[in-house]
Order: sequence, then C-alpha cells, then structure tokens
Amino acid sequence: MWLVSLFDALAYALLDLPPLALLVAVFIFSALVGSFLNVVIYRLPIILERDWQAQAREILGIAPVAVEKFNLVVPRSQCRDCGRMVQGIENIPIISYLAIRGKCRGCGARISAFYPFVELSTAVIATFVFWHLGANAAGFFALFFVFTLVALTGIDLKVKLLPDIITIPLMWAGIILAIWSVYIPLETAVIGALLGYLSLWVVAMGFKLLTGRDGMGLGDAKLLAAIFTWVHFQYFALVLIIACFSGITVALLQKAFDRSNNSDNLIPFGPHLALGGLIAFLYGGPIVDWYVGFLTGY
Ligand SMILES: [Zn+2]
Repeated sequence: MWLVSLFDALAYALLDLPPLALLVAVFIFSALVGSFLNVVIYRLPIILERDWQAQAREILGIAPVAVEKFNLVVPRSQCRDCGRMVQGIENIPIISYLAIRGKCRGCGARISAFYPFVELSTAVIATFVFWHLGANAAGFFALFFVFTLVALTGIDLKVKLLPDIITIPLMWAGIILAIWSVYIPLETAVIGALLGYLSLWVVAMGFKLLTGRDGMGLGDAKLLAAIFTWVHFQYFALVLIIACFSGITVALLQKAFDRSNNSDNLIPFGPHLALGGLIAFLYGGPIVDWYVGFLTGY
C-alpha cells in the first residue's frame, strides 16, 4: 500500500538525516548566496539592457554613450533614495533587514521586503532540498539547481525575462551531471532537453501564427529544456500540470485583487515552471506512485 511505503520512506529519510551542524552550515551558506542572488536579480537585467543598447548603437553606427562601470560587483550596494552605501555590518542576510527595521539608516526610506524574502526562501528551500537528498553529490549539486531557479524566478517576476546567460548554463550543468548519472542518465537528460525545448517552441510558434504576436518567449522553452536535464522526462506532464495549476491560481488571485485592471499584462510563466520542476525533482516518484496507486486501488 502506498501509505506504508510512504512511512517507510519517511523513516528511512529520518535515519539518513545529515548532521544538524551540516544543515545549519547549508542554511547560512544559502542565505549568503540568496543575498548575492538579490544583486543578480536586480542588476543582471540592467546589465543586459545596457549591453543590448550598446550593440544596437554599434550596429546603427551611433557613437556609444559613456556610462560608469556597472556589474555584479561594482558599484557597491546603496540606498536607492539617498545613495547611502550599505555598510559592512548591514550585509548580514535577513538579520540586517530586521535590525534596521526595513528602513535606510541614512534617509529612513523603506527598503523592499523582497530582499530578505529572497534570502530567507533561498536558505529554507536549499536546506530542505539538501536534507531531502542527503550529504552526497546529489544533495550538494541540488543547491546549484535551487539557486539558479531562485534567480530565474526573481528576474522573471521583476522584468518578465529568463536570461539565456542563466538558463543555458543550467542546462549544460544538468547534462554534465548526467554523464555520471547523478540524477538521471545522459540519454534521458538529452531527450529531456529536446522534449522540453520543442514542446514550448511548438506552442510559441502556434501562438504566433494564430495571433500574429509574441505571447510566449522562448526563455520558457529554454528553462523547460534545462529542467529536464535534471528531472526525468517521465515527469513531463507532472511539471506542466503543476506549472499551469499554479499559474492559473496566481492569475485568478491577481484578477480578484488587482483593481487597476490591466488585463493584457503578460504573466511570467518561468516561476511556475520552476516550481513544477522543483516539486517533480524532489517528489516526482512518490507523486506518480501515489497517483497510480490511487487509480488501481493499491
Ligand atoms: Zn537612504
């Protein structure tokens, strides 16, 4: 019976628990990474846009504009209202935000709760995933999977973009790990990448043919390709069902609470694909087993 196997799995997971100190270390490390992901989420879209503008100017033969250096490291973080630099001690993830009560110490301007939220959720999800997979190669590399999905989710929510510079390396990482079958065998990962990309490519092309406009970016296709180099493609339907369900739920909630009524607003689909991918990555097997058991009565 599936219930018994569920308890078996649970008992096994408890016996196989990584030491507490290791979990705490993973939590702290992931919170620090989350802090860096905030920088990536906020700055990468600006860096990319500046790049595109510089390229367009070059193609059109327009003289480049001089801009001050701006990358993931330079300049240091500062208040967006008064320009006060973030001091060393204020860089502690989550805690600093609570200590300064979410306000700039220079001018008192509100600092978005998005920042500590990213730090906390990165730390919680990463620690949970590590606990679930154990202190082994699968557990450690899964942290990279989580961090990348958090960055993509944040950027897609902010600017409705899934940058190639993140989705493509995520796909290569999955394929390289598949050489050693860390999660899935190499063949499975390659088929998964093709299936993930082509399925959404077909949808995007169909949408374009029918409506004459770009409704779906191919960023979603690349993200799905990347996900199925980490997750077995036998969970293809599961990932899409979770993504659609969560996407529709959020869209309905938005419609119910948003009075501004700008209904033609594009809903970013990346966060929902990431959620589906992560759930299938962790629980694809048990969910499908449960469903089959449910259907057959065992
Ligand atoms: Zn300020």
